[in-house]
Amino acid sequence: MEKRLRQARPFFWENPARRPVAACGEVLAVHAPGVAAARERFTRFAPLLADLFPELRAVGGVIASQLLPIPGLADVWRDPEGNAAFSPERLFLKGDHDLPVAGSVKARGGVHAVLCVAERLALAQGLVSSPQDDYRRLAEAKARTFFAGHRLSVGSTGNLGLSIGVMGRALGLGVDVHMSREAREWKKKRLRDVGARVVEHASDYSAACAVARAEAQGRDDLHFIDDENSLDLFYGYAVAAGELAAQLTAAGLSPSPERPVSLYLPCGVGGAPGGIALGARLLWGDAAVISFVEPVQAPCFLYGLASGRHEAASVAELGLTLATEADGLAVGRPSRFVGRLMEPLLDACVTVADAGLLRHLAALYAAHGIEVEPSAAAGLAGMEVVCGDPDGWRFVRDRKAASGVLVAWATGGRLVPEAEHAAFRTKAAGLAG
Ligand SMILES: *Cc1c(COP(=O)(O)O)cnc(C)c1O
Repeated sequence: MEKRLRQARPFFWENPARRPVAACGEVLAVHAPGVAAARERFTRFAPLLADLFPELRAVGGVIASQLLPIPGLADVWRDPEGNAAFSPERLFLKGDHDLPVAGSVKARGGVHAVLCVAERLALAQGLVSSPQDDYRRLAEAKARTFFAGHRLSVGSTGNLGLSIGVMGRALGLGVDVHMSREAREWKKKRLRDVGARVVEHASDYSAACAVARAEAQGRDDLHFIDDENSLDLFYGYAVAAGELAAQLTAAGLSPSPERPVSLYLPCGVGGAPGGIALGARLLWGDAAVISFVEPVQAPCFLYGLASGRHEAASVAELGLTLATEADGLAVGRPSRFVGRLMEPLLDACVTVADAGLLRHLAALYAAHGIEVEPSAAAGLAGMEVVCGDPDGWRFVRDRKAASGVLVAWATGGRLVPEAEHAAFRTKAAGLAG
C-alpha cells in the first residue's frame, strides 16, 4: 500500500476493516444523538439565519442543496472492458458546490460549529433563555455588542475559513482565519471584506491550525474551531445525509441492499466525508456504499487508515508534496478522531490525479453547465478510477452498486470568481490537447 501511494498514481483501496452495520451498533448509538442535535440546532437557528442572509430568506433559513441528475456524464465512466459502467438515469450530483452562505460543503460543518459557539455563549449570558426561545434576538443590538467581545479562530486552506468568517461576522463575532499556503487570494480578500482578520502562514494546513490552537489556549474570549478534532463540525456535516434521504425518497429511489446508494465523497481531513458517511450508515445501514476520494499527492485519510497510525501518519513520509489543484483537499494528516471512527464504517478509499479532477470538472460543465472547483470534482474523478480498476470494478459488482443510485458529492464552487472557473477549464483543455 505504501509503495502504491508513493507512486502518486490513481489507486483504489478497499477497506479491510469494514464491518456490517449489525456489528457497529455501539459506535452508531454513540453518535446518533449528536447528529439529531445538530439537525435540531439548524432548525432553531433557521429564523435567525433567514434574517441575517438575504439568500436564505425565501427558503426559511434552511441551508440545503439540490440533488442534480447528471445523465450527460454516463459516457465518461467505463468498466475495464471499455463498456459504459452505469445507466444515465442512476447518476446524480449532490449540489453542495452551490450551498448558500459559504459556497461549499463547509456551509454545513463550519456554520454549525459557529452556531454551537454562539448558542453556548448566548445561553450562558442570558441573551436567549432556553433552546425554545426566539433566536432572532441574537441579531439585536444587545447581542451584537456582547458578541463583539468574542473572537472565533480557525486554521484553514480556504473554505473552512470562509464559512467561519462569513457566519461569525454575520453574528458580530470577531474572526481570525489562519490561512495555510494553499489558500487562494480571492478567498482572503473576501474574508477581509467581511471584516475578518486573515493571518497568512507560509506553512501547511496542520501547522497553521497548530498556531491558532496554541493562541486560543486558556482564553475565554477566543474560541478555536478545531477542524482536526471537532465533533461540532462533524455533526453539522452529518445532517446532509438526512437531506439526501428525503430527496431520494421523493424521487422514488430509496436505497435497499439490492439497489444501494453509492457515495463518492471528496476528502481532506475527513470531517465532511466522515460526517456524511456516519449519517448515511445511520439511515441506510449496509445499503450505502461509501468511498472517500483524495488527491494522489494528499492521500492522508487512506494512509492514516491503512497504516492504523491515523493523525500520526503524514503523507510527507511517502515523499508526497500536497501539490494539487484541489486546495480544499491539500491536507497531509487526517483528523484525530474521524479515521478511527470510520474504520468499521467506510468501504473504500480512492486517489485521483489532478488531470482527472480537471477533466471531470470540464466534462461536468460541458454536459450540464455546472461549475465546481477542482476539489469538488474529486467524487466524479474517483468514479472513473473505481470503474477502470479491476479490483474497483469487482467491488462495484460485489456491492451491486451499478443497480443502485450513484451520487458524486460536489463540495465547492459557488463563490469561485468566473475567471478562475474559466482558467480551470483552459487547463483541462490543455491536458486533453
Ligand atoms: C473541506 C472541503 C472538503 C473536505 O472536507 P474535510 O472535512 O477536510 O475532509 C472537500 N471539498 C471542499 C471543496 C472542501 O472545502
